[in-house]
Order: sequence, then structure tokens, then C-alpha cells
Amino acid sequence: MWSYEVKHTFLKRLPHDAELLTAIREAFEAQGIRMGFFQVIGAVKQARIAFYDQKDRAYRGLNIEEAGEILSCMGNVSELEGELLVHAHIILGLADGTTRGGHLVQDTRIFAGELFGMALKGEQLRRAYDEVTGLKLWQM
Ligand code: ZN
Repeated sequence: MWSYEVKHTFLKRLPHDAELLTAIREAFEAQGIRMGFFQVIGAVKQARIAFYDQKDRAYRGLNIEEAGEILSCMGNVSELEGELLVHAHIILGLADGTTRGGHLVQDTRIFAGELFGMALKGEQLRRAYDEVTGLKLWQM
């Protein structure tokens, strides 16, 4: 277990029609934040999520070709090979009242988004390939 202090928190309205993962990353990058946590609520025009098949060690993509409310989107920011990496999961509420959710991947289009970000200070969190899971996890 690692211990971190909260450097600061911030709010940002995410741009209409922007790509969600990119907009989150840019919100952190613009302030020079290299690690942190966030939550987003709002709505998307359409989304792309994925499910990690633990047996096959591969992500299975899923397109949601309709508008959805972002009921919950949360994740963290750390480094992978020197680059800022946003890891996010999302639950969308659809027009019929059902929900879909998963690991957020590129190509999710924002209708409106409100981000609450938390910048952390302490030893830099870095990801690396993990043999056991096949995922790029935080290094311990
Ligand atoms: Zn994930």
C-alpha cells in the first residue's frame, strides 16, 4: 500500500463533442498533473467500451450507438512508459432505463461532461505489464 497526499482538486467542464478519454487526459496534462483520480458525470452521444476476457487476455470491444447518461465514470491517471495514461470505467444509463458499462476506450463522444479531478503528490505511480493478468498494472 502506498500513501499519497491530495495536492489539489479541480473541476472542469469537458468540451462538447470531444473524445472523452482524450478530454480527461488533457484536463490533467494542462496542469502538469502526472497522477490522480477523477469522476465524471454528464452524457455521451455514443460510446465505446470494452470487457477484458480474463481467459483470452484480450479486450472485447462494444459499441453503444446511442446517447447515454454518464451515471458514473471514474478512474485514475498514472504513467505508462513515460506517457500519461487514463484508466477509466463507465456506466451509462440508456433511454429505456437500462445500463451498460465497462472499461472506457477511445471513441466515446461527449455531449456534456463535468469532471471532478484530484491531483496526488508522492512517489510517481507507474504502470508496467503484469505477467499474471496480462494487464498493464501499477508497479508495486
Ligand atoms: Zn479497466
